[in-house]
Amino acid sequence: MNSNNAAMGAYVFCIANQKGGVGKTTTAVNLAAALAALKKDVLLIDLDPQGNATMGSGVDKNAVEHNLYEVLLGEVSIKDARLRSETGGYDVLPSNRELSGAEIDLVQMDQREARLKHAIDSVRFDYDFILIDCPPTLSLLTLNGLASASGVIIPMQCEYFALEGLSDLVNTIKRVYTNINPNLQLIGLLRVMFDSRVTLQQQVSAQVEEHFGDRVFKTVVPRNVRLAEAPSHGMPGVVYDKNSRGAKAYLEFGRELVRRMRREGLKLSSRARV
Ligand code: ATP
Ligand code: MG
Repeated sequence: MNSNNAAMGAYVFCIANQKGGVGKTTTAVNLAAALAALKKDVLLIDLDPQGNATMGSGVDKNAVEHNLYEVLLGEVSIKDARLRSETGGYDVLPSNRELSGAEIDLVQMDQREARLKHAIDSVRFDYDFILIDCPPTLSLLTLNGLASASGVIIPMQCEYFALEGLSDLVNTIKRVYTNINPNLQLIGLLRVMFDSRVTLQQQVSAQVEEHFGDRVFKTVVPRNVRLAEAPSHGMPGVVYDKNSRGAKAYLEFGRELVRRMRREGLKLSSRARV
């Protein structure tokens, strides 16, 4: 069954890769802002206790009234905890280090991998896209993300061990698909921090295309210092310097994702007319 029919609401996508520092948060924040620039209603869920997506959206993770941890525990709803990213033009469900306690607390709970999914149900029709920035682990938190999502977007760097790491992630996605969430699809792989002058990167990029075919997004995000500078100004790169190469790539990625959703004929919710 298709997960994005009128009865289901927003597209819910995890931005995931268990490898650290590969550009998940940069992709989540900039994709959220790129989709907002396309007039989509977007919620960005920060599923990482590091709170980088929260800070990069211009929300002070240490000053928030409520956070995702309380939502997972069932103490508050997403409606109470979400905040506006004024710089990005989207909503954020913030996190901070408190969330690291969730791994332990959730283990004791009923339906521990479905806590986020149930929380999302209350706001599913408020948005066109709900993006989930996953931590660099295959933990219970990430499992909550994958159980909630209809798709996974994998940012990756074209480095030597990249393909090996991907097979672990793809196997996890298959296991979640089989055991927990039959709506989960691999939406695509996004090549990020790309430097076309490096022969190895070109080679790995070609291998990824060969192996994953049309699951590889056409857009390639270059290594660009403006994207790295933006979080310290509390704004997405696509807002901080919209003419930079990095910003242009993420804006194009937003357009490519919207086109792909349309082309693949996934039925859209009454709100999500992409
Ligand atoms: P973690 O696994 O810790 O959550 P991550 O996968 O979310 O990390 P990011 O935090 O997005 O990765 O990126 C890691 C670092 O690389 C950050 O300092 C970020 O600013 C920088 N970075 C990400 N993408 C680019 C890019 N295209 N060009 C230059 N720097 C980038
Ligand atoms: Mg991150």
